[in-house]
Amino acid sequence: MADCLFCSMVSGDVSADIVLDTDEVLAFTDINPAAPTHVLVIPKRHVSSAAELGQADAGLLAAMFEAAAAVGSGLEGGWRLVTNVGPDAGQSVFHLHFHVLGGRSLGWPPG
Ligand code: 5GP
Ligand code: ZN
Repeated sequence: MADCLFCSMVSGDVSADIVLDTDEVLAFTDINPAAPTHVLVIPKRHVSSAAELGQADAGLLAAMFEAAAAVGSGLEGGWRLVTNVGPDAGQSVFHLHFHVLGGRSLGWPPG
């Protein structure tokens, strides 16, 4: 999709520190990490947010969870999976992404 930052990372037009690259999914480190490990998992196909997902996306979602678990597998203390939807949640990039956070004790509830 034109003018989408994360689509530009998938195409290679914008560089990213890639940690995992599969047919359907890309994972890369967040430019402004909120934890010692902060990786974003995105679908290569443009999807605006989790609000757009349906039954037809089951395979894509499984691939995203599998990628998140692969990133999290290195975090002995555990890890958190977050996806923000819309302005109240603080979504700032409108291409679906899972935040995988870990490497420190994480507070709950989030702000
Ligand atoms: P959101 O606020 O939409 O849930 O998360 C967007 C995330 O994308 C933020 O954590 C932000 O730091 C990250 N981000 C924004 N621009 C870039 C960029 O150019 N490169 C990388 N690696 N991450 C980015
Ligand atoms: Zn996109």
